[in-house]
Amino acid sequence: MNRNIAIDGPAGAGKSTIAKRVAQQLQLIYVDTGAMYRAMGIYFHRLGIDPTDEPAISQAVDGAEVSIEYRDGAQQVILNGENVTGLLRTEEAGRMASRCSVYAAVRTKMVQLQQSLAARTAVIMDGRDIGTVVLPDALLKIYLTASVSERARRRYLELTEKGEACDPAEIEQGIRARDEQDMNRPIGPLRQAEDAVLVDASDLGIDEVVEVILGLYEKARREKGV
Ligand code: C5P
Repeated sequence: MNRNIAIDGPAGAGKSTIAKRVAQQLQLIYVDTGAMYRAMGIYFHRLGIDPTDEPAISQAVDGAEVSIEYRDGAQQVILNGENVTGLLRTEEAGRMASRCSVYAAVRTKMVQLQQSLAARTAVIMDGRDIGTVVLPDALLKIYLTASVSERARRRYLELTEKGEACDPAEIEQGIRARDEQDMNRPIGPLRQAEDAVLVDASDLGIDEVVEVILGLYEKARREKGV
């Protein structure tokens, strides 16, 4: 039995912050799968491919070499030899990722890469389809969510802290659009796996959510004898 943790949930629920903390506590490797889709979005954008042009995207997929490295424990995403990590956390990159991640060719490539990472080492992986598609046998599956207004508030704070100019109403609208797109695509849509535990973080702080997950992990290990 593996020791992996899958965390899925909508944009802005706090998945990456929480997953990083849990990874440190449990000595698991944190894999941010959204960053991989963001790198793919950047790749297509640079090629000038229209995100609605599925044939062009499917054809170009093979030219993208995405890999993951760790520097001081932090995930770095390498796109065709270039470290693009610093370009990934913008709203624009998130939108591009969401638009290109609907296609089978893109998802197949990313899922294979993610599964090969998890085959090498114990991971905590966050995304949209981790519990349902990428790691269906994960020891613990969490569906982490929060209200739209709370997620928008947190994303706004995160962006303004980084000095990125943004409008709160636009952020909220962007989150609604991303939820809509991620939950309603035919392949690998965002949904709670049947055996995932729902954690609503609307009224919980980071430490509280981390504690809840550590407790669930301990319980899962005991129950499954891992
Ligand atoms: O989590 P993050 O906001 O970085 O993800 C960016 C986008 O990448 C998501 O809105 C989603 O469309 C896509 N994604 C995905 N499957 C994953 C992770 C992210 O489709 N496992």
